Amino acid sequence: MTRAIPEAGIEAMRKVGLDVDVSPHDRVLTKKELLRELKKKPYDALVSLLTDTIDADILDAIPNVKIIANYAVGFNNIAIDEAKKRKIVVTNTPDVLSHTVAEHTMALIFSIAHRIVEGDRLMRSGTFPGWEPMMLLGTDLHQKTIGVLGLGRIGSRVLYQAMRGFDMKGIYYDIKRNEEIEKELGVIFKATPEEVLREADVVSLHVPLLPSTKHLINSERLSMMKPSAYLVNTSRGPVIDEKALVRALKDGVIKGAALDVFEEEPKLAPGLARLSNVILTPHIASATEETRNRMAEMVAENVIAISQGKMAPNIAQ
Ligand code: NAD
Repeated sequence: MTRAIPEAGIEAMRKVGLDVDVSPHDRVLTKKELLRELKKKPYDALVSLLTDTIDADILDAIPNVKIIANYAVGFNNIAIDEAKKRKIVVTNTPDVLSHTVAEHTMALIFSIAHRIVEGDRLMRSGTFPGWEPMMLLGTDLHQKTIGVLGLGRIGSRVLYQAMRGFDMKGIYYDIKRNEEIEKELGVIFKATPEEVLREADVVSLHVPLLPSTKHLINSERLSMMKPSAYLVNTSRGPVIDEKALVRALKDGVIKGAALDVFEEEPKLAPGLARLSNVILTPHIASATEETRNRMAEMVAENVIAISQGKMAPNIAQ
């Protein structure tokens, strides 16, 4: 295990008799350190985090490994084709975090539209002059349109919360149309991402990071959004060209952005943190006690299944 995950997962593996070694460093390992740790024993399984880059060199160093259990639903950190070539099963932690990430997404949407963070900063600064008719005017969300790019587990849950709970209208684009969810929620499919960007008051990103989704949001696409619109990203940082976003936010191309993920985590694009029309959270969209524990248990279920010669329940695909 490249770094400790909640005890529930470690305990579950030890309970069935597996020997679990956890990296002694409670931080992201460099490639050199990871290689050194992995070569210490002929490990049968690797538990990785989204901050670990598992490339061909790492895979070559673990010839006995039969499973890489990623403690995340996204698995863009793993060279999946290289793993397949070596007949290594890669697993992830889907579904269990969808409600939590959707809740965090809604929290970001509300915080940016209702200027919660700016208000909090003002109160703490000791400069609150008392109620004022024009102070920190925000934007209503009810009856506005939320546009989702990527209607998967999380995107559909965000639409459910926004449309059912907060009376928003919903539109989406996905490479796969989902008529079942369209019927269930009344969300409208758009044939291109551009149509969503042009029509939505809030654009929320829920695609996986793939070569085809890198910089899905670039300066050209930002300029298609309404100047009154907000962009929210809880997917993966590189889905947005972050430098282009900083320019767009500075120039008033869009009204604001709320981000949980960043292009070069943990670094931020120059100027991003100085903007007041942006809210930043440190990649914590799935970080609730309940969900992180459940993710750890899922990791264990996957490792245990493979160790017992069974099919892993959550094969990443
Ligand atoms: P999912 O696979 O259920 O959904 C992804 C959807 O995106 C699918 O419907 C897919 O068809 C669609 N898609 C793929 N390529 C597309 C494209 N080019 N254009 C439009 N749609 C496209 O995944 P999920 O469980 O909903 O998770 C989505 C992503 O959220 C994960 O891959 C992960 O990177 C990210 N995530 C982030 C956090 C966080 O902590 N911020 C937590 C969990 C997941």
